[in-house]
Amino acid sequence: MSFLKVENLSKHYGGQRRLADWVTGNKPFTVRAVNNVSLTVEKGEILGLIGESGCGKSTLGRAILRLHEPTSGRAIFDGTDLSTLDAPALKAMRRRMQIIFQDPYASLNPRRTVAEIVGLPLQLHGIASGEEARAITAKIIERVGLKPNQMDRYPHQFSGGQRQRIGIARALVSNPEFIVCDEPVSALDVSIQAQIIALLQELKQEMGLTYLFISHDISVIGYLSDKVAVMYLGEIVEMGPVDAVLARPRHPYTQSLMSAVPDIDNPGKGARVRLTGDLPSPVLPPSGCKFHTRCPLAIDICRRTAPVTETVGPGHQAACHRLAEGIDISQTGAA
Ligand code: ADP
Ligand code: MG
Repeated sequence: MSFLKVENLSKHYGGQRRLADWVTGNKPFTVRAVNNVSLTVEKGEILGLIGESGCGKSTLGRAILRLHEPTSGRAIFDGTDLSTLDAPALKAMRRRMQIIFQDPYASLNPRRTVAEIVGLPLQLHGIASGEEARAITAKIIERVGLKPNQMDRYPHQFSGGQRQRIGIARALVSNPEFIVCDEPVSALDVSIQAQIIALLQELKQEMGLTYLFISHDISVIGYLSDKVAVMYLGEIVEMGPVDAVLARPRHPYTQSLMSAVPDIDNPGKGARVRLTGDLPSPVLPPSGCKFHTRCPLAIDICRRTAPVTETVGPGHQAACHRLAEGIDISQTGAA
């Protein structure tokens, strides 16, 4: 049994008719942010979730934790179907499942000291209070690389990297087992990114953590992950062991992500595939394969029928009508 099993999870926003829609005669619209996502994460693993901005990565991470209530489907964590939990049971489960946000400033209360911010989960979950809570808080603050004498300062007194360390301390203080890392380094300077990634790796080892690591940066995902899931317009289009997916990406969308990374050892290799156009709106997604409007390999069937997910190697799946032909657009220059 997998540590985390996500089954056909969907999250659609909106859909209710608002007053403004009555007045204007507009139909209420639905944002299909996440559609029918299934995946598994084993204990101690890092699953990297990659895809361009707006494809639904954060929504998926939050829907798994029920920070946003899923529209349908479910997530099963360590044998417990989270969709069946009532509010108190869900709250108790949150101790074991935490999230680190992209923007550490927006997610830290500016009027609370670091000690208060980091210590809050201890109170919320009834783990410790008073001097004991302060001691636990001091320990984790020190472990993430801040000084104990910085505990009584406020978030604005820290740099971006230090603020992310505070966010990490807050996520880890309750001794959780599973963490959604939602672009934890995307807002940071490149020089700081490596330090925070190294810290997250060390903490994972020390605390036996399992990560869903979200990023739009394929080099970060490739460096950190055991498995990769590639998301396009709310759906997983390819998933598998990191070596297999990055060495031989099978979906044209993954190939286009890969070809955007310069190959330092082999600069002449492969064509740079540029996707034309923007990510389509999840309000009115394209028919058939949702990638067809930007895919250099699209043929008639792609516009009409959604492809099924096929196994293309050990633990490796992809959903594309043209898989059997084994074309790599970054090699052929099809774009
Ligand atoms: P990502 O994290 O990959 O950038 P998001 O999950 O934030 O993507 O967003 C996916 C889609 O859902 C986007 O089109 C976004 O505008 C939309 N969306 C996100 N949150 C909400 C919300 N609370 N209400 C309506 N639409 C939302
Ligand atoms: Mg996001």
